[in-house]
Amino acid sequence: MKLYKIKRSKIDNKGRGLYATKDIKKGTKIINYTGKIITNKQVDESDKYDNNKPIYLFTLNKRYTLDGDFSWNTAGLINHSCDPNSQYDGKGLKIWITAIKDIKKEEEFTCDYGFGFDKDYKQFPCKCRAKNCCGYIVREESRWRIHKKFAMSKKN
Ligand SMILES: [Zn+2]
Repeated sequence: MKLYKIKRSKIDNKGRGLYATKDIKKGTKIINYTGKIITNKQVDESDKYDNNKPIYLFTLNKRYTLDGDFSWNTAGLINHSCDPNSQYDGKGLKIWITAIKDIKKEEEFTCDYGFGFDKDYKQFPCKCRAKNCCGYIVREESRWRIHKKFAMSKKN
């Protein structure tokens, strides 16, 4: 039995998400993240990777990147949360999703998309509704910068 099923997402209300089909223990491998392996040079040179879909790109090593932007990559449906229950794990050229908490049946799987902080972060608002949500899809280590920005704009 698969550990996941596809359903309309509570986070991304226009899209779909993956949900647990049973209780899952922390550390369990949920699904492989599949795609096409391309060279980092291709990422730099092709228009397709021109910053509009960074969500699906994983740098595997100095030479290769995994492009998961394909309809058959079911793991690509997993939504971002600022308080995720899963994470992307990789070894060699393989990536999969692992539970980082115990997950209950019918819970939606979420990951930290790990976007870096740059001037474009406002293109990616976050609706995860976690208590610590900073409002945008930005990786955890960079979120403090956004909080700081909010604080600064309040002062002015
Ligand atoms: Zn959020």
